[in-house]
Order: sequence, then structure tokens, then C-alpha cells
Amino acid sequence: MTMENFTHLLQHPVYQLIETAADKLGVSAYVVGGVVRDYILHRPSTDIDVVVVGSGVELAQAVAREISPNLHVNVFKNFGTAQFFYHGADVEFVGARKESYNPDSRKPVVENGTLEDDQNRRDFTINTLAIALNGSEKGTLIDSFGGIQDIQDKRIRTPLDPDITFSDDPLRMMRAMRFASQLGFHIDPETFRAIKDNAHRLEIISKERIVEEFNKILLSPKPSVGIQLLDEAGLLVQFLPQFDKLKGVEVINKRGHKDNYLHTLEVVDKIAMVSSNLWLLWAALLHDIAKPATKKYDEEHGWMFHGHEYVGSKMAGAIFRSLKMPVNEKLKYVQKLILLHLRPIALVEDTITDSAVRRLLFDAGDDIDDLMLLCEADVTSKNPEKIKRCLANFAKVREKLAEIEEKDRLRNWQPPVSGDLIMQTFGLHPSEEVGIIKTAIREAILDGVIDNNFEAAFELMLKEGEKLGLKRNDL
Ligand code: ATP
Ligand code: MG
Repeated sequence: MTMENFTHLLQHPVYQLIETAADKLGVSAYVVGGVVRDYILHRPSTDIDVVVVGSGVELAQAVAREISPNLHVNVFKNFGTAQFFYHGADVEFVGARKESYNPDSRKPVVENGTLEDDQNRRDFTINTLAIALNGSEKGTLIDSFGGIQDIQDKRIRTPLDPDITFSDDPLRMMRAMRFASQLGFHIDPETFRAIKDNAHRLEIISKERIVEEFNKILLSPKPSVGIQLLDEAGLLVQFLPQFDKLKGVEVINKRGHKDNYLHTLEVVDKIAMVSSNLWLLWAALLHDIAKPATKKYDEEHGWMFHGHEYVGSKMAGAIFRSLKMPVNEKLKYVQKLILLHLRPIALVEDTITDSAVRRLLFDAGDDIDDLMLLCEADVTSKNPEKIKRCLANFAKVREKLAEIEEKDRLRNWQPPVSGDLIMQTFGLHPSEEVGIIKTAIREAILDGVIDNNFEAAFELMLKEGEKLGLKRNDL
């Protein structure tokens, strides 16, 4: 226990009300865990966890009465917790508890306990801190495991025997890596050793929980920190085995390809610097995932990864499904970026034709800006001149994209002549002819043969109809 008073950290107005209500009920209440850690680190935090030595539900209801008779309190009887929202915070109350575990589950047997029991069940010393909210103790920091020192030293360490902590709840191994990546902390050697030894226990954790932590790693300032730690500890291979295959360099006739694992980490880190779009980060993570599967050595061209963008976008689907991730428009977006990730580079290599730029805009649609971010991040080389040259070329592509987009508005292209109008004009039912005419119009626009407007498209439709021997039905 330190003598310093921490009342100044209790800025949120709910604390005053908790003090009043807890004093009236004659119970001791504490704010605990991650929120205290975040206050000390000056990180924003909107989840306030309150532990009471007594009934969490009763205290929550008493505090709610102090606020307003109408404030809605969510009570979770089975868990003995209660929660409400107040002044932008999600405030949760729970009775202090003691936990014990069975080896085959991460769901503990729970009984009432003391504040110390409650601190014992927490995962890392930095997450055990509690500040008393009422009575004569108010403002006292209860730091039973040296959590403050560990915050200062940027150390992640379990409060109790790490082997027991991780074996009880293996999700904590993912959380350790996540905190290291998120906060830029290091993992204490003994804690890290225990994670390695218990890594196989991750098998009892649901994919959803694993992905939740992994996503937080991807969203951290430098995701490679967390990913490398997951890899070193033997956790990564358990839920993302495909990623492991990216490692290493093969050499034939003194020609090697780049290490796609290290390259991918670099690309992900670069995206993290410019975007907090989780799905763009996933696209970066998986953009070269099919390189190992498509790798071939060719005497003339050296190492080739023919079709890796196509195979990779398929693999992304399989990976999302294996991780129980949403198979929806997010996946489609990731697959689209993987599929298109070579296209802007191809544009650079040829002389940039308007038609190729139009096709890229058409295919990428609204995701063109994200695609360009991915492609720019994809430029990794030890040669700074080469990087400069590539980025200058991409700048040219961007200019051209902007120019063509302004002229042709292809980003969210809608056919200027609809299928309905084609059918009306020629008295057709839905049929092959309608498709042929629509395709001809689209191709002509993309090739720049006609302008992207109704008049030009209508005229072409008439010509195409004539070619097919169709008669006008609308005159
Ligand atoms: P974040 O809010 O950024 O996810 P956090 O540490 O606040 O991080 P929460 O899930 O909000 O994490 O949990 C709040 C507190 O509950 C933690 O700080 C920790 O004390 C405790 N806790 C959460 N999950 C676990 C766990 N799996 N094992 C032990 N204690 C946990
Ligand atoms: Mg939290």
C-alpha cells in the first residue's frame, strides 16, 4: 500500500455518487483493474469497473437511485453483476470474488471473497490496482503486487504463479501479447517462459476470443511487436498456421526471394501508421498469404508467385471461416484488396494508359484509396532509392486516378443505360442479348471509345442492337 492519495484520479462524477451510496450501505467499494491502469497511463478509458465487498447489484441500484429513479440498471443475476451508463461511462459493479478453475474450462467456480481474493484472480500486476472509493480509506491505492512499479518499468507480469495463471485461463496469454503491443510494454522473462510452456492450452479458447485479442494487436501502434511475440511463444501457429509458411528465404542458383513473413510484418506496421481500419490491416496481413503456395523457380525469371493475388483472396475466405470471423462485406473487402494489390504496380510498369486506369477505378470502386495505401505500404526494400522511385511512380498513378475520376466518374459506376431500358427499347425479355449489349457499353466506356454518359451509351445500344438484328419497339 502506498501512502500517496489518488483521489485526483477519480474525476468522473459517478465516483462521488458511489461514495455516498457505499457509505449509506456501509460497504467498501473500489475502482479496479484496467481503468486504474489507464488513468495512471493517461489513456482514455470509458469502462469503469467497481468491486464492492458485498453485493455489487445492491450497490449499483443504490448508486442509480442517487442519479435518477429512471436510470436503467442492467442486472446479470447469474454473474452477480450490474451495469449502467452514466456520463459517457459504462459503469459495472461486482461483488469481490474468489475463483477456482477446472483444467478443461476457462469458466471458474466463483465464490464471495475479499478485495485481496479479487486482486489475486486478475491476470497481470498492472491490472490488479484498486483505489478505495469511500470511507476513511478513500483515495488509497491498493497495490498488492507492485503494479505501479511494473507500470513504470513497462513490465507485464502475473501476480501469482504464471503457470497457474495461464493454465487457468489461457486467453490471458493472448492478453499478455496484446498489452505488450498496445502499451509498448515488455513481458517479464518468467511470465514469457510460462506462456511458451502453456501455449498448447490455447486450444480450449474459442476462436472468437482469440480474434478479439488479435484484432487489438493489429490495431496497436506497431502490430509486428505483438505478432512477433505470438510467434515466438508458439501461439500464432495455433490459430494462423498459414502465416508461419511465409517465413524464410529459399535460394536456387544464388537467387533468393524476400522473406515474406518479415515483409508482411513491415507492410502491416506501415498501414498501422496511416490507418486504423481493421480490415485494411487484415488485407495487409494476408496480401501475400498465397506466396508459399504459388512459389515457383524459373530459370529465366527467377522466383515467381504467379496468381498469388487470386489464390490469396480465396485463402482469406478460408482463414476467416476457420477463425469464425464474419463472412460478409468485410471479408469481401479484404478479398478484393488482396485480389487487386498488384494492379497499381502493373500500371506503373507500363506506360499508364487511361484505359487501364479506368479499369482499375471500375474494379476498385470506393476502395481505391485503401488499395493505394496498401500498395504504397507494400513497397519494402533495403534500397532507399528504389523505394523513392516506386513511391514517385505511385504518386503519378494517384494523379492519373484523380484526373480520370474527375472526367469519367467511374468510382461507383452505374451503367448509364439500364437493362430495363434495353429491354423496353427492343421489346426483349431478360435474355442473353441484354447482357451482350450491357457488356459492350461497359467495355466501350472503360476503353474510352465512348463517353460515360446517357447519350453516348444510348447511341451505342442502338448500334449494338442493330448488330444483333434487334428491332426498336419504342417508336
Ligand atoms: P481493455 O479494456 O483494453 O480490453 P482491460 O484490462 O480493461 O483492457 P477488460 O476486459 O476490460 O480488460 O477487463 C477489466 C479487468 O478485468 C482487467 O484489467 C483485469 O483486471 C480483469 N480481467 C479481464 N480479463 C481477465 C482475464 N481473462 N483474467 C484475469 N483477469 C481479467
Ligand atoms: Mg477495460
